[in-house]
Amino acid sequence: MKSTARAILLAHYARWIAAVSLLVSLTVLAAWLWHIPGLNGAIAGSTSTRPNAAISLGFLSAAIIVLTFDPLTSFRRRIVYGLAGVALLIALATIAEYVFGIRLGIDQAIALDPENVANPGRMGLNTAIAILLIALASMFVSRETGRSVTIAHFFTTIAAVIALLGMLGYVFGAVNLYRFEYTTGMAPVTAILLFALSGALLWSSKDRGFMLVMNSDNAAGFLIRRILPWVIILPVVLGWIRLHFEQRGILDTVTVAAITVTSNVIALALLIAINSNVLFRSENSRERLEEHLRANIADVERQIAERTKQVREATAHLAESEKRFALAVDGAENGILDADISAGTLFCSPRWRSMLGLSDSAWVATPQSFLELIHPDDRDRAVALLLNHYKGMTAVFSTEVRMRHADGNYRWMLSRGQAVRNEAGRAIRMVGSQTDITELKALQERLRIESIHDAMTGLYNRRHFEERLASAVHLAMRHGRRLSVCICDIDDFKQINDRFGHATGDRVLQAFADILRRETRAEDVVARYGGDEFCILAVEVNVEQAAVCAERIRSRLEAMAFLSDGRDQFSATASFGLAEATSTDSAAFISAADRALYGAKAQGRNRIAIAR
Ligand code: GH3
Ligand code: MG
Repeated sequence: MKSTARAILLAHYARWIAAVSLLVSLTVLAAWLWHIPGLNGAIAGSTSTRPNAAISLGFLSAAIIVLTFDPLTSFRRRIVYGLAGVALLIALATIAEYVFGIRLGIDQAIALDPENVANPGRMGLNTAIAILLIALASMFVSRETGRSVTIAHFFTTIAAVIALLGMLGYVFGAVNLYRFEYTTGMAPVTAILLFALSGALLWSSKDRGFMLVMNSDNAAGFLIRRILPWVIILPVVLGWIRLHFEQRGILDTVTVAAITVTSNVIALALLIAINSNVLFRSENSRERLEEHLRANIADVERQIAERTKQVREATAHLAESEKRFALAVDGAENGILDADISAGTLFCSPRWRSMLGLSDSAWVATPQSFLELIHPDDRDRAVALLLNHYKGMTAVFSTEVRMRHADGNYRWMLSRGQAVRNEAGRAIRMVGSQTDITELKALQERLRIESIHDAMTGLYNRRHFEERLASAVHLAMRHGRRLSVCICDIDDFKQINDRFGHATGDRVLQAFADILRRETRAEDVVARYGGDEFCILAVEVNVEQAAVCAERIRSRLEAMAFLSDGRDQFSATASFGLAEATSTDSAAFISAADRALYGAKAQGRNRIAIAR
C-alpha cells in the first residue's frame, strides 16, 4: 500500500475510533444523568468515569472526527478549536482545583457523586492533564503545519503514556499507576478512551509529524509499523503472566527472575530478528533497485551517445551540403531565389542581384519588392502561374518575364522553380532560379524576323506572304471586306542579268522593292514571291483601286534610270496581274492574278491586267 493510501485509510479508522469514543462518552454521561448503574465506566468495583471527564472526552472525540475530514477548511478548523477548547477549559479548571486546593463547583455540576472520595465528582489529575494535552494537540494538528503537528504528536505521546500507565495500573493491579496521591484515580474506561483518542489523533493527522515516518514506504515506516505494536503489547503480556504466576505462589522469586530475564532476552531477540529481517529485505530490494537503475542509466547514456553521434554526423553532412550549395549558388550562371512563403521572406543570391545590377544597391528583397521589379505587362500572368503552381496545378513553375534592371532597362528572365510542400501538400517554400535570356530573346526575334523576310530586298518572303494571304481571305470573306492581290514580274529580267551582270540585276530587284514599299500602305503585305516576281496583298481595297496603285508602281519603275557596273544606262519595266478575292480559296485567288499577269506579258509587257 502506498503511503498516501495508508494515510487516508488510517484517517478513516481514526474517525471510527473517535465515533465509538464519542458514543461511550455519551453513554457514561447518560448513566450519570439518569442514574443508570454499571454504565458509568466503573469496571469490577473500580472508580467511575466522572461526568466532566465524559464531557471532555466527548468534545475531544467530536474534535478528532472533524479533524479526519479533508480538506480542513478554516470553518472546520474553528469547530475543532471550539470543541477542543471546551475540553481544555474543563481540564484547566480541574487542574486549578487540584493545584490551588479550591472548589469551582464544577465537579458535581451535572450529577452528584455517590462515591465516598476526597473530591466527589472530580476527575483524576492525570486524566485532566491527559485531556489538556489531547485538547492542545487537537488544536495544533488542525494548524496543519509540519512543526505544529510535531508538537501535537509530542503532547499526544505524553497523553498516551499517561493513559497507558492507567491501563497498566488496572492490568497489574498497581494503584499508583492510575491514581496520584490525594487525587481521584483515572477510571479504566477513561484510560482506554484517552489511549484510543491519542491513537486516533495521531492517525487523523494524515502525513504530518510522526505520521510522516509511520506512513512512509521505506524501511523506517515498515519497521515502526511492524515493531511498535509488539513493543507495547509484548512487555505488558509477559509482565502480566509473570505477575499472575508469582501472585498465585506457583513460582518462587528466583525462578520468576530467571524467567523474566529469559523472556526479555527472547522478546528482544525476536524484535531484533524481525527488525534485521525487515532491514535486510529492504536493503536487498534497494540494491536490486539500484542495480536496475544503474542498468537503466547505462542504457540511457548509451542511447544519448548514439543520438549525439547521429546528430553530429547529420550536422557535418548538412554543413557539407550547405557548403556545396553555397558554392553552386555562387558559381552558377543562374540567380537563385528562395522564398519562405509562410514567413514572407525572400533570399536572392548575389548572382541574381548582379544580373539586375542590384549588387551594391539598397534594394531589400521581399516577395513584394520582387514583384514590383517585374514588367507591369508580365506581372499578372506571372503571379497567376505562380498561384496555380502553389495550388498544385503544375509540377514545375516556369515562365519568361521582363524585369527592371537598375539601369532602367528591362531584361528578359527565364524563371523556373518548384514549391516545397508540407505533409498536407501546402506550399511552404519556393525555390527557383532565374536566367537572363535577353540575348537569347533578341536572337530568337532576329531569327523570327529573318524567317519571314527576304534577305536581299527586306520584303516579306513567299511563305509568310502565303500565310498572311490565307488568313486575310478568311477575314475578308467573314467580314465582307474587299481584298485584292497584285502579282508583278520584271520584264525580260533574264536579259538584264545577261547584259549587265547578276549584281546589277540584284540592284534592279532592290530598287523595285523600294518602289513597292513606298507606293503601298502600311497595312498592305508586300513580298518577294520568288526570282523577279513580287506580290502585294491590298486589304480593304477593290481591284480597281489596287490597279491605281499598280499603275503608280509601274510608271515609277519605268521612269527610273539604272546604271550598270559598266556605266551603261538602262531602264526596266514590269508587268502586273491583279485579282479580287471572291472566295476563301487563296490558291484560286493567286492563280487568277497570275493568269492576269500572264495576259499582261502576252499583251506586250509593261502593263496592268485585271482578272475578270
Ligand atoms: P519575262 O518578261 O517573261 O518575265 O522574261 P524574263 O526574262 O524576266 O523571264 P523570267 O521572269 O522567267 O526570268 C527570271 C530570271 O530572273 C531568271 C533568273 O536567272 C533571274 N533571277 C532569279 N533570281 C535572281 C536574283 O536573285 N538575282 C538576279 N540578278 N537574277 C535573278
Ligand atoms: Mg520576268
